[in-house]
Parts: sequence; C-alpha cells; structure tokens
Amino acid sequence: MFSTMQDVPLTVARILEHGSTVHARSTVTTWEATGPVVRTYAEVGARAARLAHALRDDLGVTGDDRVATLMWNNDFHLEAYLAVPAMGAVLHTLNLRLPAQQLSFIVNHAADRVIIVNGSVLPLLAAVLPDLAPTLKHVVVAGPGDRSLLADFAGGVHDYDELIADRPTDFPWQRDIDERQAAVLCYTSGTTGDPKGVLYSHRSIYLHCMQVNTGDNFAFTPRDTALPVVPMFHVNAWGIPHAAFMSGANLLMPDRFLQPKPMAEMIAAVRPTVSAAVPTIWSGLLDELDAGDYDTSSLRMVVIGGSACPPSLMKAYDERHGIRVLHAWGMTETSPLGSFAQPPGGLTPEEEWPYRITQGLFPASVEARLIGPGGERMPHDGVAAGELEVRGPWIAGAYYGGAGQDPVRPDDKFSEDGWLRTGDVGTITADGYLTLTDRAKDVIKSGGEWISSVELENALMGHPEVAEAAVVAVPDEKWGERPLATVVLRPGASAGLRELRTFLAERIASWQLPERWAIVESVPKTSVGKFDKKVIRASYAADELD
Ligand code: ADP
Repeated sequence: MFSTMQDVPLTVARILEHGSTVHARSTVTTWEATGPVVRTYAEVGARAARLAHALRDDLGVTGDDRVATLMWNNDFHLEAYLAVPAMGAVLHTLNLRLPAQQLSFIVNHAADRVIIVNGSVLPLLAAVLPDLAPTLKHVVVAGPGDRSLLADFAGGVHDYDELIADRPTDFPWQRDIDERQAAVLCYTSGTTGDPKGVLYSHRSIYLHCMQVNTGDNFAFTPRDTALPVVPMFHVNAWGIPHAAFMSGANLLMPDRFLQPKPMAEMIAAVRPTVSAAVPTIWSGLLDELDAGDYDTSSLRMVVIGGSACPPSLMKAYDERHGIRVLHAWGMTETSPLGSFAQPPGGLTPEEEWPYRITQGLFPASVEARLIGPGGERMPHDGVAAGELEVRGPWIAGAYYGGAGQDPVRPDDKFSEDGWLRTGDVGTITADGYLTLTDRAKDVIKSGGEWISSVELENALMGHPEVAEAAVVAVPDEKWGERPLATVVLRPGASAGLRELRTFLAERIASWQLPERWAIVESVPKTSVGKFDKKVIRASYAADELD
C-alpha cells in the first residue's frame, strides 16, 4: 500500500524562500577590487525576485529556457543561481576557462537564450560572440567592464543593475513545479571529446544540499561562513551556494581573486570557517601561509577534492597551520558529492590518517560497486580493484542531448542496468572506505600489471623539495607502457633526478619505478585546475635514467 504522507516537491524555490526569510540576516560577502561588498540573504532574495521579473517580462524567458552565466563566484552569480531555477527556467553555468571553441559549442548546444556575464569577463564573451547561434537573444552585464566589446552583437545588451531596478521584490516562485524538472545544466570540462551536459533536477539539488549539510559532510549552520573557491561554473561549486542558503551559513565569495595572496588576506579578514577547492589551489596557498603571517584560525575544515589530494599536503596543513583537511570524491555527473573521508569515531589523530587519506565513505543515498575487467562484481575487501560504478538520487542517469533532443546514454558511461560508470578505478574496504588508484584512462599498464599513477605522484610529492608531480603512461616496446614522472621542484631546490628516484625506491615496489623523468616548470592544468595528463603525454620528451 502507499504511504499516507504528503507528496510535496523538493524545489530550488523552497531553498530560496527559506534562505531569504528564515536566514534573512545571513550574508554573502564578495571580495572585490574596491573592497568587500556585503548583502544579506533577505537582499539576495529580493534582488533574485527583481531579476526574475526582468528575465520574464523584458527578456521573454519562459518555460525551460536556458539562462547562462559566465561569471566568477560572487553575489550576482548567487542571485542567478536562485532566481533562474526558482522561476522554472534552467540555469546553465558556463566554464569561463574553457577553450573558445568548447564555450561556443556548449552555448549553441544548449540554445541559451540569455547570458549573464561579469563585466570583467567581457573580452572572453566578445571573442566567441561571432560563433554563437541566433538563439542567443540577450546579454546582461553584471559589474564594471567595457560594454563596447559587445558592439557587434545583434541582440539586446543590458546592464544588470539597471535591468533589475524598480522591479517588485517578490515573485511567484515555482514551488509546485515537478521536482524532476531540470533546474541547472552543467557540462563536464571535456577532458575527452566534446563536453557533455548534465541536467540536475530540483529534487537532485535539494537532496544533495541536505547531504552537504549533514554532520559528517560540510555540516553548515548559521554560525559558519563558507568560502567556496571551487567555481560556481563547475558542478555548482560542490553544492555550497544552495546548501548555504538552505542552512543559513554565510558565504564569502572570492570573485576573480583566486591567487594565494588575496586568498590568504580574505581568510584573515572575513574569517571563514569552511572552505573547499581542488588540491592545486591549496598547494599554492600553503606556500603563502608558510611565508606570511596570516590568521587562519577561523577555519574548522578545508575540503579537498576534484583530484587525489596528496597526503603530504593534508599533513602540512594539519601540522603547520592546525587546519583540518577532509578529502572528498565526486564528479560533474554526481552533483558532485560522492564520498567524504571522515574517519570512524574513537581514534587518535594518528590512527585517523589511514582513513583520512582515502576518498572516503559513500552516504546512504549513494550505492557503489566495483566492476572487474570481465564485467564481474569485485569484492569490497580493500584489495580487489575495479571500475567504480554508482547510483543514487543525485547521480546522472543520462546526458543532455541538446535543445529539443532526447537524452543520450553512451554505453561507456552507463551500465545496462543504469548505473553510472565513473571511469575511476579503485578498491573499497569491507567497512566502506573507497581508495582510488587511478582514472581508467590514466592507469599505467606495464607488462600485464597495473601501476597506479596516483600512488607514484603522492609518494613523490612527499619529498620536501617537490612542489608538484604528475605521472603518465608512455609507450614502451618491452612492457607496453611505462611511467614517465614529470616533477616541479620548489624554488631553490637542489634535488636531482637520481635523488628523487632513490627517495621513491624507498617507498614503491622496484618494478614500478619510472625510468623516464622530466623536470618541468609547471604541470599543465585543465580548465578546472586538475593535472592535464593528455597534454603531458603529448608534450614531454623524457630523460632516461638507465
Ligand atoms: P572532468 O571529468 O572534466 O575532470 P569532473 O570534475 O567531473 O570533470 O571530474 C571528476 C573526476 O575527478 C573523477 O572521475 C575522478 O577521476 C577525479 N576526482 C575527483 N575527486 C577525486 C579525489 N578525491 N581523488 C581522486 N580523484 C578525484
């Protein structure tokens, strides 16, 4: 029999209404060139209503029209994050670090009707405008910038603040929309082939926010201030903006000031309690914190994910700055929170480390399984490795097919029974801890054995003179593939390749030791700051040691 409970849709409109009333006093602080700008959640709610009126009445946004954003993390972006889905339209977050060709591809693929752009990003938009389809009707410019760059655009150009001025501060939000309707569209960063669109639903966003807010995750309360360094154009900034509005946590938005020095300054000045970003951001900031005298005592937790966090980086924050780093795993297709590495209770700090360096535990809503090379289920015994597959209410079941098209479900991305094939390879212990050894496409297949590039990188980054290390597979006549280690040394480092190899030999089985090495200026990064192994494979000639 069915239950006797109410069937109330879970919607972004509810998050907006709740945050702007119950948490009316909470604030979003945006770090701008002219100093911090502070708005209350009540003001954000009122401005979101004005924006919705302008989008509907002036710019003709109806139904599931796509409204895109090409913006940094700031208060304008937060308003669009809430207003666009809550009015029933679809927010499409554009990654402003994508190559021009991919950017125009996704705007046209989604048939965006409106783009809201930060003034500081106008040169980027102007460069792709000639390639954009006429489905784009309006550009709305938020904040200062050179509007003359849009002179050749055939559609309407509007100033954000002028457009929303004098509009009503309430709006008939779509609180009874079907919760399975699309709310936000986000494309993967396209490390392989064209970017693929994931359409988050109202329901998936709502449930994911509740997960973000649980005790063993970000656990936001109105006493928190969250600093999402992860961009709002990449997987909803890990759900932090919506989760903060739901819980009343304050927000500190870094806008375009993502360099170590301004970040250290904003942490000392605004005193966030929680922050989140990919490892490369935290390794840059670590040098700044080591060198300067910044008060970071407000931070109760820093969440690192997006690529494997070297244990040496976690320990450095812990030991040198008293900042607790938590490791998390996820992807665009998983909203992104998949797993979160909280240790079990009752352990000493030393006993916690083996758990904290894993990718962590899946929450109840996310089921996980490991699939071996022949399609067989692998045991969760912490030893047997396989490709990770997941399913759950905030996990993608297909990709957006484009405007007016059916969703697509490629075989290499979804299993026959509908699970997401993550492309990540790893193990899961009997008590549920996931350890990723590689991406399937990055694993090094040497003479029938697999070498984990992540394990070699983590070991190398444990050397005090190594700033970054990326290991990739290169073809080898005898073994099929062998590892190539590319290493960025810290300024003033004296270690040579032989010393690094000896250091590695003390930590890694000898047959896994790379013969090919290259000292490089920097490791090439993707548009979201991860090591770009495709570029490394293509671009470095190796020095053979033996
Ligand atoms: P892209 O696929 O374009 O890089 P995503 O952000 O969706 O964009 O990337 C998700 C991938 O990032 C995962 O499949 C995994 O390979 C990697 N990843 C994310 N978090 C971690 C982590 N904590 N440890 C190791 N790899 C991670």
